[in-house]
Amino acid sequence: MKVILSGIKPTASSTHIGNYFGAIKQFVDLQKPENENLYFLANYHALTTVKSKKELEDNTWAMLREYIAYGLDPKESTIFLQSDVPEVTELAWILNCLAPMGLLERAHAYKDAMAKGKEANVGLFDYPVLMAADILIYQSIHVPVGKDQKQHVEIARDLAEKFNHHFGETFVLPEPLIMKETATVPGIDGDKMSKSYNNFVGAFEDEKEMGKKIMSIKTDSLGVDEAKDPEQSIIVQLLRLVGKPDVIKTVEEKFRKGGMGYGDAKKILLAETLEYFAPMRNRYETVSQKELESVVADGAKKARKIAQETMHEVRRKVGLV
Ligand code: AMP
Repeated sequence: MKVILSGIKPTASSTHIGNYFGAIKQFVDLQKPENENLYFLANYHALTTVKSKKELEDNTWAMLREYIAYGLDPKESTIFLQSDVPEVTELAWILNCLAPMGLLERAHAYKDAMAKGKEANVGLFDYPVLMAADILIYQSIHVPVGKDQKQHVEIARDLAEKFNHHFGETFVLPEPLIMKETATVPGIDGDKMSKSYNNFVGAFEDEKEMGKKIMSIKTDSLGVDEAKDPEQSIIVQLLRLVGKPDVIKTVEEKFRKGGMGYGDAKKILLAETLEYFAPMRNRYETVSQKELESVVADGAKKARKIAQETMHEVRRKVGLV
């Protein structure tokens, strides 16, 4: 069976449509009998930015509920919390001792923080190594992610090769799985949609809030009758993800010929977004806290068993007697 693993950081109260089309939709589509699927919430990783017990707990339960609402099925996937498998932090330490500083200095999460003048903590710097431990401890072959995570999966691969070189064949070399069309979903300002840039549209967001965000999507100042290039429009890029084919075609044609203003196009995008996510938004309301607790308790047992087996071998191979 092919082991497929991925995770999301619970650093906001809701996942956004970039997370869904970049990553979570793949998680759902990959639930097939020939795959062993493991999907977790990266709450250790979230600690690099979240400094409030209540916020981290609330985000974690909300995103877990969203996982189920999007269509992750505990019968087909092992769904768990990263912190329920503390063995990953031990593996991260061992991998830290193989990770060159230069490699991590080039990692984009850290580089971005530096470029934006943010103060980076050691956890953020070391983020790719903990991610490598997550991937390698379950012997994952495929890691479905958005394009922004490609480099981090490559770092996991590098560290697996280094470990295998020094201590003997142990880890499978993982590969990122990236959907070409949704590799980078734009946010309302045209930059990559991201929780940390505050330019995101949440799939489970209150309708009014979603409307406010979609109506504030950045556009140029072309008037209703003027021709517009659909390829340059954030509205069209987002509509291509959520819209029905005939609706996308109509908006694209009206943009090319002239005759549709940005305000009307945004209203269509809002309606299509709500329609696309309606079944998931409805399901969200029906998932109980008890169900979530039982899903992660089962998931933790299964995931931890695999992790403990790997760590038994790792400890033996590196000489921790
Ligand atoms: P994060 O929110 O950083 O934990 O990311 C969770 C997953 O969503 C990762 O696989 C990211 O690559 C993916 N992702 C986040 N933002 C985007 C985006 N704007 N477009 C495509 N994928 C994304």
